[in-house]
Amino acid sequence: MADAKCPVCGCGRFYVKDPDDEFECHEFECRGGEICFDPALSDTAAPEIQAQTETFCHKCAWHGAFERLMQEEDAK
Ligand SMILES: [Zn+2]
Repeated sequence: MADAKCPVCGCGRFYVKDPDDEFECHEFECRGGEICFDPALSDTAAPEIQAQTETFCHKCAWHGAFERLMQEEDAK
């Protein structure tokens, strides 16, 4: 599986909001279909990302369900 990229700007870095605290964000990259959180982040702090998890682009204003990133990749 290819790396996920933002469908708008092509950025490979995303973040999700913490389900318990909307002001807390967790950045990650998606390489080869694997979600890679910042190594500085402890495993317990990283939220579980599911297909419907709202995901935000690190660079632009795009956001949507995480599964959409994978669908965009398939469409090529
Ligand atoms: Zn973007």
